[in-house]
Amino acid sequence: MRRKRRSSTNADAESYRAQLAYLFARSAFYRDKLAGFERSELEDIAELPLTEKDELRATVTPENPFGSHLCADPFEIVRIYSTSGTTGTPSYVPLTASDLDNWVTGSARSYAASGVEPGQRIVSTYNAGPFVAGAALDAFDRIGLTHIPVGTGNTERLVKAVELLRPEAVVMTPSYAAYLAENFDLHDSSVDRVLVAGEPGGGEQAFRAKLEEGWGARVTEAMGIGDLGVSLWGECEEQDGMHLGAYGFVHPELIDAVSGEAIAMEDGAAGELVLSHLQHRAAPLLRFRTRDHVVLKTSPCPCGRAGPRIRCIGRTDDMLIVRGVNVFPSAIREVVGEFTPAVSGHILVKPKAPGVKQDPPLPVAVEVAPDAAVDADAIRSRIRDVLLVQTQIELVPRGSLQRSEYKSRLVAH
Ligand SMILES: [Zn+2]
Repeated sequence: MRRKRRSSTNADAESYRAQLAYLFARSAFYRDKLAGFERSELEDIAELPLTEKDELRATVTPENPFGSHLCADPFEIVRIYSTSGTTGTPSYVPLTASDLDNWVTGSARSYAASGVEPGQRIVSTYNAGPFVAGAALDAFDRIGLTHIPVGTGNTERLVKAVELLRPEAVVMTPSYAAYLAENFDLHDSSVDRVLVAGEPGGGEQAFRAKLEEGWGARVTEAMGIGDLGVSLWGECEEQDGMHLGAYGFVHPELIDAVSGEAIAMEDGAAGELVLSHLQHRAAPLLRFRTRDHVVLKTSPCPCGRAGPRIRCIGRTDDMLIVRGVNVFPSAIREVVGEFTPAVSGHILVKPKAPGVKQDPPLPVAVEVAPDAAVDADAIRSRIRDVLLVQTQIELVPRGSLQRSEYKSRLVAH
């Protein structure tokens, strides 16, 4: 794995031109959508319209279950993943051999950034089921790790594998890592790296500190987006945001989630992450809205990797607007986490009304540790100071909010 890389600009600009020409030649969806933009350059990509998942879904027919953005011939497709949809019908994500190889390359770069090294052992808890996370598993072989898959939903098997096979690393969702740290004594295990992915939260400071304490290990996070690529981003040992492991394959942008306007990629900028394929073949996407709300860091990273780093604050789908203020449940969890160890770190936002817009105060259940002296007022005023939102804090006993082995739920619907 090379550490340094060339400035992305020239190679990416060339890939973009080729990707665009490919789309005009093969994609019915983008030929319509991008009429007039045949000569677009990467530096002007923000002029192109955004691509929404619903638009792609609307083109799905019984004859073409992928949608009209499908570019490849059937014989070119070597893998078909699904993403879970809210409508009950999955979206299919087809990949050619080169697409799959690029996914694994990017994913391997993202996970290798964590510091795991060839020859080490890693226990994974993803299922190689229909979802794209299965493709991340190939990244571990690519890095040269000894991969020990234990799958989802078998805690006993996982704990045994850690005990008997003495892996240096584990990979799982942050919720599951927290669940294990709460219920098992893992501090003195062989694990010295916990790689978290699959949901936001692994980068929240208090939450991460608790995981690191529980596991006696360094925690780094990785992130991808089902429709576009698995583990596109991965954090290095500096633990200061995720680097783009899929550089050369994917181009990132930021937009304002409400207006759709482009936001300059400057240090500290925050917005919705928008991604474009640069070298994809089966069903490439341009300016795809990920619904991930991220904060950008552009200061040089001591590890030497180039390009901006991101931290994911939450899903724009989870965002609530409380008297004009955008609030992410994960951001509330982060502030509450400052009160650790008096709080467990688990919260549940309970909106009073359906929909995004809420009237203050916003009800939030906060789990407290046994015998902890916690002041609900202190939590409420800290949230108000940091996030500018009025909440109504309900303290609930530790263990009363739902735990999940996969993704934790932060909002009661
Ligand atoms: Zn770094």
